[in-house]
Amino acid sequence: MNVYTHHQDSRESLVRDAAERAGRYLSAMDDRAVAPTQEALDALSYLGGPLPHRPTDAATVLDMLDTFGSPATIASAGGRYFGFVNGGALPAALAAKVLASAWDQNAAIRAMSPVAVHLEQTALGWMRELLRLPEGTASALVSGATMANLGCLAAARHALLARQGWDVESQGLFGAPPIRVITSAESHVSVGKALAILGLGKDRVHKVPTDDQGRLRVDLLPEVTEPTIVCLQAGNLNTGSFDPIAAVCEALPRDLTWVHVDGAIGLWAAVSNNHRHLLEGYEAADSWATDGHKLLNLPYDCGMLFVRHAEALHAAMSSHAPYLQTAAQPEPLQCSPEMSRRARGVEAWAAVKSLGREGIANLMDNLCRHARRFDEALRDCGFEVRNDVVLNQVLVSFGSDEETKEVIAAIQQDGVCWCGGTVWAGRHAMRISVASWATTDEDVERSLEAILRAAARCGVEPLVESV
Ligand SMILES: *Cc1c(COP(=O)(O)O)cnc(C)c1O
Repeated sequence: MNVYTHHQDSRESLVRDAAERAGRYLSAMDDRAVAPTQEALDALSYLGGPLPHRPTDAATVLDMLDTFGSPATIASAGGRYFGFVNGGALPAALAAKVLASAWDQNAAIRAMSPVAVHLEQTALGWMRELLRLPEGTASALVSGATMANLGCLAAARHALLARQGWDVESQGLFGAPPIRVITSAESHVSVGKALAILGLGKDRVHKVPTDDQGRLRVDLLPEVTEPTIVCLQAGNLNTGSFDPIAAVCEALPRDLTWVHVDGAIGLWAAVSNNHRHLLEGYEAADSWATDGHKLLNLPYDCGMLFVRHAEALHAAMSSHAPYLQTAAQPEPLQCSPEMSRRARGVEAWAAVKSLGREGIANLMDNLCRHARRFDEALRDCGFEVRNDVVLNQVLVSFGSDEETKEVIAAIQQDGVCWCGGTVWAGRHAMRISVASWATTDEDVERSLEAILRAAARCGVEPLVESV
C-alpha cells in the first residue's frame, strides 16, 4: 500500500492503462477532425479550477487526462496534419519513448545513466554518418533546432574569440574584440534568438537579401575582412529552399569565418540520393543544426547539433564540479547547454535502428513526393503555387489576402486536414508542410479534396479552368 498509488501493484496497472488508452487514441485518429471541436476546447475547463487541496487517486487523474485532454489535442499524430513542419512519431520511436518513460533516466552523464548515454552516442554516430558529416564532429541531442543553433553559435563565438586570444567563457563579452555576424534576410527567428542570448545581438547582424525562393544572394554577400559568423539555411520554413552553401563558402575567407548551417528541416536531404544535391557544399561548414522532431519523425522534443571542431563545443559547454563524475570521453553535459535532461537518445536510437539508412531515405523521399503531388494537383486546378517545390513545403495562394485567409479558415474548420497560413513576398499564402511518416497517398488525395471543397465553398475562382 502506497499513498501515491493507493494499490499494491497499481503502478504497473496504471502504466498498462495509460498504454491502452494511448493505443485507443491512435486508433481513433483517422475518424476525428484534425483540430479539436469547440466542445472539446470548452471541456478543458474541467482540467482547470483552483489548486486541489486533497489528493486525487492516480487512476482518476489519468482518466481525466484521457477524457478531457485527448479530444483537445491536435491530431498531428495522424496523416493529415500539415501545419508548422510538425513531424509525427515513428512507431518504434514512440514505443521506445513509452518504455523510456518508465526508465526515467537522466541523460546528463554516464554515471547517471549508462544506457541513455550509450544509446545517445550510438544514435548520434549513426546520424553523423547518415548526414555525411566529417568524422570527429562533436554532437549532442537537444530540445530542438533552436537549442541546436544556440549550441553551435556558442561554439562559433568561442572559436572566433579564442583565435584572438580572448576567453569568452571566462571573461564574457565586455571588452572582447567584435565578431561580425552575417545571415540571410530569411534566416529563422531562432537564429536571432540564439544570437540575442549569446550577446551577439539579433539586430547588429548583416542581413543579406534573398531571391524569390528565399535563398541568400551570393552576389550581395558583403566583403569579409574580420572574424565573422555566417549563418546559412538549409530548408526555408516557407518554401523549403536552400541557401547556396557551396558558393557562399567559396566566396568567404575561410580563416576568418565560421559557417553555420541551420538545417532544421533540410539537413535530412543528405540521406536521399534524390535530394542531396540541394545541400551542395554543406560538408565544408563548421557547424550544423537540425531537428529530430521534424522530417525525421522523432517524438517531441528532439534536435541535434553537430560541430566540426569538438574542442570549441566542449569549451563553450564546459561544466565541471567535484560531484559530477565525468568520464574521460565527452559527456552529454559537455556538449549541450543542458545538464539534467531526458533520454532523447532512446527514441533516436530506436528510429534509426527500425528504419535503417534505406528506410530514412525512403521517408524523406515520400514526404517530398507527397509535396510534389500537392503542387501538381493544385496547379492543375488553377491555383497559384508560390514556390518551387524542392522539398516538403508547398505554398499556395487562393487570390487576394482575404480570400486566402478565408480558405485557410474553411479548411481548418472542415477538419479533414489542417494547414496554416503565412505571408510570403508580401502576400498571404497557405503552407502545406508534409512532415509525417503517417501521411499516405490516400491522405494526400483526401486532403486535396478537402482543400478544393473549401476553396469552392469560399467562392474562390481558380486562375484557369481545372483540367
Ligand atoms: C523549426 C526551425 C527551427 C527551430 O526549431 P525548434 O525545433 O522549434 O527549436 C530553426 N530553424 C529552422 C529553419 C526551422 O525550420
